[in-house]
Amino acid sequence: MRAEIISIGDELTTGQRLDTNSQWLSERLLEIGVEVAFHTTVGDNVADNVLAFRQAVERADVILATGGLGPTADDLTRQAIAEVAGVQLVQDEASLAHIKALFARRKREMPPANLVQALFPQGSRPLPNPHGTAPGIDCSIARRDRGPARIFALPGVPAEMQEMWAASVGPAIQELLGQRRVIAHHRIKCFGVGESDLEAMLPDLIARQRYPLVGITVHQATITLRITAAAQTPELARAAMQPTIDTIHRCLGVLVFGEEDDELEDVVIRMLRERHLTLAVREWGTCGLVAHWLASARSAGVFQCASVFPGQQGWDDLAQRQPGDADYLLCIGPSPQPDSPTSAPGNLKIILAHAAGVMEKEFPFAGHPEILRPRAAKLALNLLRLHLLRAADSGTARP
Ligand code: ATP
Repeated sequence: MRAEIISIGDELTTGQRLDTNSQWLSERLLEIGVEVAFHTTVGDNVADNVLAFRQAVERADVILATGGLGPTADDLTRQAIAEVAGVQLVQDEASLAHIKALFARRKREMPPANLVQALFPQGSRPLPNPHGTAPGIDCSIARRDRGPARIFALPGVPAEMQEMWAASVGPAIQELLGQRRVIAHHRIKCFGVGESDLEAMLPDLIARQRYPLVGITVHQATITLRITAAAQTPELARAAMQPTIDTIHRCLGVLVFGEEDDELEDVVIRMLRERHLTLAVREWGTCGLVAHWLASARSAGVFQCASVFPGQQGWDDLAQRQPGDADYLLCIGPSPQPDSPTSAPGNLKIILAHAAGVMEKEFPFAGHPEILRPRAAKLALNLLRLHLLRAADSGTARP
């Protein structure tokens, strides 16, 4: 089964808005084993929409469209689908009642324009949209030489589109595939090497046709490996993922710092809390990012205080080798000057002081400040994490 995704809206073709719906839907389709052959983006023009749908019906078996279901004159999806199906638009009473009830709940009069959202190509099925006014459309289009193509039109609003996928469209496509499967994910979080180095450490795991599927994404130097499996039950899906999870841990060792929603600060706080240890921070080059992350996490009783300094001011005096009142003092040095093509990369200094000693590390550092700041903050947290791991191994968890 081949799929095509059609994103509809002038805001997309003019570049005002990034088409994240196609990305999200492609991932979901891939998870259930449906190949996405085409992404099409089309503006708010009925003739162009008809062309896009006609072409999609010819080359794909399942077509997922998003956008253009609203009540305004530029929302043309229902009209285009009716034209491609060769049918009239007819009113669906249940959808009309839903739209009216939604306005009544918001204590507003329904504008006459919204009537159009209760119109559907004859023979199609409305898809419920509990939180939005625009129901989706599920429409089969007969083809001369093959079985029918199936069009699912979803709202453009990402949250509504995702809800409709989970409640109606995903299950309907699984039914078309002749299987009803549970999709399970597991995310493994890593820090400490670049994406390509990490990929090289995981031979064959990131291949697109592999099962379970392993995806890799990077955000501010944190690498996330997302494992996906489909099975009859969540337990079976989890069992299918386990050997892959084990292989990743075996290959990456301490580069793995957590899983699912874990960030480095969550893990560091957890480790300190387990050992009844406290932490203070002094930051120069990171605009208080470490303090912000620690304070935003569940750090009460662990994170004691932070000082944030501009520029280089006070680094020589205040990057102390004594932890003071806290068990650990983490100092993140001033950012090296932004690099120019001619200058050698500067070094970022991180100092970790505790009662039993001081660790001082330098990291070569070059690049744009927007990327460097979170990287510096993560390098510091990761240094503390690795120290705590080593201390636990050598039985010196308390300083
Ligand atoms: P509505 O009932 O809100 O009019 P709709 O189905 O007509 O829903 P649009 O009007 O096309 O959807 O888009 C609604 C919102 O969703 C807009 O903010 C738009 O930018 C956003 N949106 C539309 N398509 C996409 C897309 N492909 N990716 C990300 N956002 C999108």
